[in-house]
Amino acid sequence: MLTKPVSVLFVLAVLLSTACAFDYCYGTVDPCSGRRVVTLKYGEFVDGCGKVQTVLGDCTLKQIGFVNTIQARRACWRSHPLVCNFHPTVNSTARGRVIFRGLWVPRKGCHVYVTGQFWGLTPGTSQGWHIHAYGDITKNNGKSTGGHFTNPRMEKTGHGLPGGRRHWGDLGNLDVRRDGVAHARLVDDQITLQGILGRGMIIHAKQDQGTQPTGAAGARMAQCVIGYRSPKPWSVLHVER
Ligand SMILES: [Zn+2]
Repeated sequence: MLTKPVSVLFVLAVLLSTACAFDYCYGTVDPCSGRRVVTLKYGEFVDGCGKVQTVLGDCTLKQIGFVNTIQARRACWRSHPLVCNFHPTVNSTARGRVIFRGLWVPRKGCHVYVTGQFWGLTPGTSQGWHIHAYGDITKNNGKSTGGHFTNPRMEKTGHGLPGGRRHWGDLGNLDVRRDGVAHARLVDDQITLQGILGRGMIIHAKQDQGTQPTGAAGARMAQCVIGYRSPKPWSVLHVER
């Protein structure tokens, strides 16, 4: 029988070790799909083959169950879409709206399908856009959203562009038409819906060059917080312009 102080210490130690495993293993590679795991809810996740994996203290994986591919695919398609409505920062006119949806890719797992429309951008240019660490838009210059969303263990990887080594939040550039409008459409295998929910997004003034540390994309022109999209059609029809 443990004495009371010892048992309290034991519980604390277990809680701390769980918390450490959560942070430290943030970025463990899914052995099935080769994707990095963004969200380790309670230290478990479903890999790209539908196996339920748990993350051990040394960041190795142990299979603890199996969800068949049909179930995993259904869960992917049924994931609740996310939305981010961009509002201009100070001295900017940039606005936009982005939707994130689950997209099942056979033998790869659940990816994220990103679509977006933007207006009030700088005509005829290319402007970088990223998911940032925090969904905090307190400051009107976009700075309270922090740096690019990424895995702390991947700091050596640094900044990049889609298709290469990158921060998870590095979505590349928006090609802006001569009327200041841009459209985005991409499938991303680095982010997950759970991983980006509640984080911030930024449209930058200049082109993301893919260089260190953040692509030299300049000032922050518009910002938003990623949240659950309303199923009501007015959320599409009544976008503020
Ligand atoms: Zn970056």
